[in-house]
Amino acid sequence: MTPLLRRLLQAADRDTDICWGIDEMYTLGNWPAGSHEWLVKMGILKEIQPSGLVWLWECVDPDWVEPTWLPDARHDGRIMGFYACGNEWCGVHVLEHDRRRQWAPSIDGIVSAVAKALGGANKEVVPQRVWLVGTMNRDGAYRELFLLRGGGWPDAATMIHCADRLLRSPAPAVLALDELPPPHIWTSGKPPLIALSEITGIQDGVLHIDLQPLIAQLTARCAWDADGWLSVTEAAELLMHDLPGLELKTARARISAAANRGAFKTNHLKREQRRIEALSFNSWRLVQRDRDLDAEEDE
Ligand SMILES: [Zn+2]
Repeated sequence: MTPLLRRLLQAADRDTDICWGIDEMYTLGNWPAGSHEWLVKMGILKEIQPSGLVWLWECVDPDWVEPTWLPDARHDGRIMGFYACGNEWCGVHVLEHDRRRQWAPSIDGIVSAVAKALGGANKEVVPQRVWLVGTMNRDGAYRELFLLRGGGWPDAATMIHCADRLLRSPAPAVLALDELPPPHIWTSGKPPLIALSEITGIQDGVLHIDLQPLIAQLTARCAWDADGWLSVTEAAELLMHDLPGLELKTARARISAAANRGAFKTNHLKREQRRIEALSFNSWRLVQRDRDLDAEEDE
C-alpha cells in the first residue's frame, strides 16, 4: 500500500491528467485489496466523470473497447454496456455500468489528509500550489510546515515568490509533494526541505508522516549554524520586521525582558555582551507574531 501511495503522490505532483478505473486498479495495476476504498475514504482519490473506454478483460482477446450504453430490460432496465468483439467464442459482451467509473488523485484531499496526519492547519498560501499544513515542535525544533506541489514545474520560482506566508515565516520547513524545487529559487536561504512521497506511509490504517528525516536535517543545520547568534539589536530588527509600527527602543526592551524571563536561549551575558540563539529566538518570534495577529483579529 505504501508504494501505491507514493505513486499517487507522484501522480498528483505532475501536471498531467491521470485516472484509474476499477480494472486498471485491480486487474492491471496490482493494487492491494481494499486500497481503492481506503484511498477514497481518505479523500486522496476522488471520482471523476465516467470513461468512454472499458478494459474488456473477459474477452478471449482483452482490449480497451468503447461499448454502447443502453437501458436493458433483462437487467431491470438498468443501463448496461454492449460490445460485440467479433470473436465467435464471445458473442456480445454485456458490461455493468460501474466499469465506466474512474478516479483521480485529489490535491485538496491529499492536503487535508496531510494536515490531519500532522495534526495541523490547512491554509492555502498559493492557490493549488502551496499550503500551510501544520507545525512541528519536537526535540527543541520548532517549524511551520508548508506543503508544495509542482516543485519541478517551470514556474516553481514564481510559485515561491508568491508564497508570501512561507517567505515571512521565521521558521519554515517545506514538504514537497514529490519533486524538490531547484535550490536557486530560494532568495533568502533554503529552508529544510524533504519530499513527502519519501516520508509518507500507512500505519494501522491511517496516513503516517515520518518527520524524523526533517528533524535530522534541522539538527545538522543547528550544528552548522553554531555561530548563528544575534545581538539584541539584530533580534529587535527582526521583531520590527514582524510587527510593523514597533520602534527599535520598544523592540529592544521587549527582547531584553523576554531574555530575562528565559523565553529563548541566550549566552547568559548582559547588555552589549548579550547574544541570542537564532533558532529558539525564531520560535519565540513566531509566537509573538501569531499573538499579534490574533489581537488584530479580535479588534
Ligand atoms: Zn470478446
